[in-house]
Amino acid sequence: MLRQFELVDLVRSYDPEIDEDLLNKAYVFSLKAHGAQMRESGAPFFSHPVEVAGILATLKLDYITIVAALLHDTVEDTVATLDDLKQHFGNKVVDLVNGVTKLSNLEIKAVNAEQAENFRKLVLAMAADIRVLLIKIADRMHNMQTLHFIKDKQRRVKIAIETLDIYAPLASRVGLQKIKEALEDLAFKELHENAYEVVCTRLKNLCAFSEEPIEEIATELKTILERTNIKARVFGRIKTPYSIWKKMITRNTTFEQLCDVLAFRIIVQTLPECYQVLGVLHNSYWVIPGRFKDYISTPKENNYQALHTAVISPRYQRVEIQIRTEQMDLSAEYGIAAHWQYKQDIHAHDGTQYQWIRNLLQAMEQADNPNEFLENTKLEMFQDQVFCFSEEGELFILPKGVTPIDFAYAISTWSGDHISAVSINGKSMPLQTIIQNGDQLSITTSEEQKTCSSWGNFVRTGQARSRIRNLVHTHSDGKN
Ligand code: MN
Repeated sequence: MLRQFELVDLVRSYDPEIDEDLLNKAYVFSLKAHGAQMRESGAPFFSHPVEVAGILATLKLDYITIVAALLHDTVEDTVATLDDLKQHFGNKVVDLVNGVTKLSNLEIKAVNAEQAENFRKLVLAMAADIRVLLIKIADRMHNMQTLHFIKDKQRRVKIAIETLDIYAPLASRVGLQKIKEALEDLAFKELHENAYEVVCTRLKNLCAFSEEPIEEIATELKTILERTNIKARVFGRIKTPYSIWKKMITRNTTFEQLCDVLAFRIIVQTLPECYQVLGVLHNSYWVIPGRFKDYISTPKENNYQALHTAVISPRYQRVEIQIRTEQMDLSAEYGIAAHWQYKQDIHAHDGTQYQWIRNLLQAMEQADNPNEFLENTKLEMFQDQVFCFSEEGELFILPKGVTPIDFAYAISTWSGDHISAVSINGKSMPLQTIIQNGDQLSITTSEEQKTCSSWGNFVRTGQARSRIRNLVHTHSDGKN
């Protein structure tokens, strides 16, 4: 457990606005308020708010958040009242503690289907001040770290499911990737202990078998990049047990077939260098088809940006590689904390950063019942669209199910009329191939090529369909 001076030192190291007296006062207030209360682990209850404050301090959150974290269970679990807190710590702290307390109360009442309702209110609360959500996520993180001390199995399972369904995705949405992964692994261990053990054992074996796979491949990547004069940092890691298990289930594959057990990250200085590195890698390695994703030109909903690809290294290991700039890396690692501006109040951040929260709220207001809403939020964005690229790397957004003929018509009517061949991701493919997300298409055209009437059967876009219909009519009219 962090001692009082350690916590104050830590917060002072990154927050120049720190009110040390207030932080000290909160530490002592919480210690006294929780008094002799114990956790199920046998630890003093007071250790819990201190650990939660510690988690938030490592995310470099402002001192007000740390004060509120120290006090977050005092209203719920001790004789302290909101009025007491207001008197000693002011309105900002009270609002945060009140927000967290409301969320905790909801949890206790929530059963099964009401989780959706719970979720809805949770989002409402965090939209008022995102720091309420951050404290709640840190609170859940520490409760998951100490979950095994709870004796009631049913309660443990309920907490673990709720963590997987609600808190891990929310942590991801606000960009707290490491916390999201830690929450998932802890929940996975509770819910599927055997599977968890099996995956962990396999992971250990993989490392033992190839000695130092991460080191070896990282060195190789560095050597290749050094030849290009691009300054890059290379990190390797082994994927988390939960993400491996989930992929094995959804892709119905074995552990050995997964290409992303070994994952590497290449960090460069500028955006164009990301694409240069990608080119170098795709030129040096065998690329695994269908795995390239450009989250730089089309960022994820939480503003995550990077290039993802998967290749086979000379030692025949399938590896996943992410390429991004220092700035993108910072945002991905620390989320909102990376954007933190000390001089600005959080409410002033009313720009696009929290647009997704407002979108969620709007969707909720329109949903007839919360369950339906929860269902909908699980749906992937853009599921009816496919993102593909021209040879020059221009991005095309087309309806799902389109073929290279649609693509050619999207470029120009002439290209559509005269397309004779296509190569997708460097491989020659039939013209009726369905385009997949991330495909890069290079089309060949020829003056002699005549539109086939059968093409009408495998185009999706209205543009292509009506053009082919017209051409075929004109053609047959001429014949008769
Ligand atoms: Mn708590």
